[in-house]
Amino acid sequence: MESQELRRAGLKVTHPRMRILALLEQTEARHLTAEDIYRQLLDQGDDRIGLATVYRVLTQFEAAGLVLKHNFEGGHAVYELDRGEHHDHMVDIDSGKVIEFSSEEIEALQRQIAAQYGYEIEDHSLVLYVRRKRRAHPSTGSG
Ligand SMILES: [Zn+2]
Repeated sequence: MESQELRRAGLKVTHPRMRILALLEQTEARHLTAEDIYRQLLDQGDDRIGLATVYRVLTQFEAAGLVLKHNFEGGHAVYELDRGEHHDHMVDIDSGKVIEFSSEEIEALQRQIAAQYGYEIEDHSLVLYVRRKRRAHPSTGSG
């Protein structure tokens, strides 16, 4: 449970930490801003945790290796639980939606490129900024 995970990460068990960790584990969106988390706590009737506390707890989680923080362009930082499996991201620039993907081909290609320069990859992040393809309307020319 959350309390064990907190202790394992070297953090004391507190109400805000328990609630925020549980929320990150249960969310379908997986990538949340501090404001998203704050609002969801409010929606769940928890008005004891302020936005400043949410930010503080997320910073502690990041330092403890529980969460990853992403600073995508044109938006607020988003946080996700570090599940230990590498993946890359796409950001829909219209909706802000974050999509996860992973490609063995891209991973291999990146290793190959680094090797060409005499390096091996320690870490990397790849973000694609995307926009939904519109259907073509050749007859009307609109769209
Ligand atoms: Zn992710």
